[in-house]
Amino acid sequence: MNKKFEIIIGLEVHVRLKTCSKLFCACNNIDEGIAPNKNVCPTCFGSVGTLPLLNKEAFLLGIRASKALKCSIAKKCKWDRKQYFYPDLPKGYQISQYDMPFAKNGELEFFLDEKNLKKILINRVHLEEDAAKLLHTKKDSLVDFNRSGVPLIEIVTEPDLRSASEAKQALKEIHRIVRNFEISDADMEKGQLRCDASVSLRPYGNKKLYPRTEIKNLNSFRMVEMALQYEIDKQTKEWLEDNFQKTQRTVLWNSVAKKTEFMRGKETEADYRYFPEPDVPEVEIESQLITESCGDSFVLPIEKVKKYLAIGLYFSIANILVSNKKLAEYFDCLMRLAGHNKELRTELQKLFCADFLAVVKKRGLQNIQLTPSDFFKIVHAVFTKKVSKQLARKIFNKALLEKIEIEKEINIGTEESFDLENIINGIFVQHKEIVEQYKAGNTKVINVLIGISMKKTKGIVSAQDIAKIIKEKLRT
Ligand SMILES: [Zn+2]
Repeated sequence: MNKKFEIIIGLEVHVRLKTCSKLFCACNNIDEGIAPNKNVCPTCFGSVGTLPLLNKEAFLLGIRASKALKCSIAKKCKWDRKQYFYPDLPKGYQISQYDMPFAKNGELEFFLDEKNLKKILINRVHLEEDAAKLLHTKKDSLVDFNRSGVPLIEIVTEPDLRSASEAKQALKEIHRIVRNFEISDADMEKGQLRCDASVSLRPYGNKKLYPRTEIKNLNSFRMVEMALQYEIDKQTKEWLEDNFQKTQRTVLWNSVAKKTEFMRGKETEADYRYFPEPDVPEVEIESQLITESCGDSFVLPIEKVKKYLAIGLYFSIANILVSNKKLAEYFDCLMRLAGHNKELRTELQKLFCADFLAVVKKRGLQNIQLTPSDFFKIVHAVFTKKVSKQLARKIFNKALLEKIEIEKEINIGTEESFDLENIINGIFVQHKEIVEQYKAGNTKVINVLIGISMKKTKGIVSAQDIAKIIKEKLRT
């Protein structure tokens, strides 16, 4: 990477909201699993005489996203028509928000890696309808209106990102936020979260912003990083040749050729000839609406990660928990049961992070039989020396996959371990020759005695406990 130039990146992220119906009509918010143009009504086509009616659910989800991005919510917001002529938009305009979006001036914090955090500013969040989908075959271009009118929010960041990898991390955090607060399923393969990334370079120390390149419709994290890095390398070369970009350009990423391709030249807001949408009234946003949208507890995913790091979890495990609500609830429940007992908490964490997560990964949490309270009972039994670690591990592994009575298993272990001394006496009688060998100086054979005892006690008692008793007996 060339150290002479500063990289300036900003993102525009479109997120499809998880509502029942579309933004301005009663059609279902689905465009999959149904035949093309079956989930439509005259409003979806923008037919003359139809009137759009704002979907409150979409509005509330938009507010929730804005709150999660720490934006100030406007007291009043209005709707505008963004004009463009394209086959996926039969009415010739998209209903969006221009000068009065419902949220502005937010911020987004995210991890660059496990030790470093970065904060960027959010310019605005607004609500808009999606266009139809175009399907190009070898012979024709077809239009499917099932997607026409589904609700989107557009999140616009300030150009605060300084590398392709930072842009990827920021997008991942937005993805995590909208999924965590059930704002969107954000399935990028299905186009439920799409990103346009703008990039320009400038010599270090120079505060001017130079004409940027906007890369349209990036729909995977990897694609965002690759496309931006390609543009950064290209622009660096242009700067070094003193042939830097003089006008804004819009490009598309070609995943096969792994390069950007020119799409169109300069496009300004004037090209869209925004004007107020006369058919959708302005909305006053009262504080009660914000409470209705966000509820009482509103903890950001990154705050949860920080909380898990503070109690000693690894960065990767903390992130797994934050992206899986049910798993996090399971873990939180274990910690609540342990109370303030630090050692017990550590034991629970160790078993959870290693054995438990490994089985969850293989079989899925829904197929795990062990409840948090039984999990706790097993670890607690080891902690209070009721059972050995080995037996606890056996009970634990069994309980993960089948419903068993934990107390019963623990009690069996306790009763049997009570007979340990007798069992060892028996072994000494039975294997007299080994005991004699030991007494004659071959101390290594103690391991044979330990092995036999372990076998006899079926792993109920720990090797250390057995070794302790055997050593004592051999001394006498
Ligand atoms: Zn409709």
